[in-house]
Amino acid sequence: MFTEDFPWYPFFTFLSFAWGAATGSFLNVCIYRIPRDESVVKPRSHCPHCNTLIPWYLNIPIFTYIMLWGRCRFCKARITPRYVLVELLVAFLFLLVWLKFDLTMGPRPLGLIPIISAGLVPVLWLYVSGLVLATFVDFEHMIIPDSVSIGGMIVGVILSAVVPAMHGVETLLESVIQSGIGLALGFGLLWSIGKLGSMIFRKPAMGFGDVKLIGAIGAFTGWQGVLFTVVGSSLVGSIVGIALVVGRCKRLQSRIPYGPYLAMAAVLWIFWGQQWWQAYLNILTRPLLQGG
Ligand SMILES: [Zn+2]
Repeated sequence: MFTEDFPWYPFFTFLSFAWGAATGSFLNVCIYRIPRDESVVKPRSHCPHCNTLIPWYLNIPIFTYIMLWGRCRFCKARITPRYVLVELLVAFLFLLVWLKFDLTMGPRPLGLIPIISAGLVPVLWLYVSGLVLATFVDFEHMIIPDSVSIGGMIVGVILSAVVPAMHGVETLLESVIQSGIGLALGFGLLWSIGKLGSMIFRKPAMGFGDVKLIGAIGAFTGWQGVLFTVVGSSLVGSIVGIALVVGRCKRLQSRIPYGPYLAMAAVLWIFWGQQWWQAYLNILTRPLLQGG
């Protein structure tokens, strides 16, 4: 198959998984330090229990955690499984992005020339990294850092100018307009839902962090991505909510933030959004075609 045309393909496939694991490892540092207002580059990683610096050979993503059975090499304190979970998650997401959007195979947005869509893989790697970061900080601290949400809006618009394939268009201007529309729609939509919700329930219904996050999602995906993410996240949220009520996990139920649902739906949009959008359009146009 394509391995004959492109013998390096398996190597790059492995590399994207490894790069994802390494990125996940760095995101773990960000998840811990950003909400605590610490620098993400200095000092080097150390054990949160005994403060021992972790030497490079014990800082290998996924591998180290399994080797040490999830315990610190020096003080034997348990390391939260979140570390290996995030590394595995990001590794698989990077791999999926590569498999779907690489240059040798897979559908390119609207069949654009490969040179343009070459930028899609790193852009989407950055995008899913931001979503993972927002998700795990939100789980732990019930906030979404501005560096992710506001940063994401700015970076999303700038990258749209550089990589128009993000929005399936060919020119810089079209792409930036799509990005701006997505940003404004996402922000406006969740802001309105939040306002409406707090009028009905007489308490804050939507965190402003979520409003900023969907703005960033819109800057990357445009208006279709925003609609999908808003509908998708509320569906997933309802299902989990009902499951928690049925399971009588009342404590957990009131503590789950909304950001992770937004992030989850936004990730689904990357991989399967186009198919669902197309299926939806087909349903809408079918009666018209039959009538004609
Ligand atoms: Zn330790």
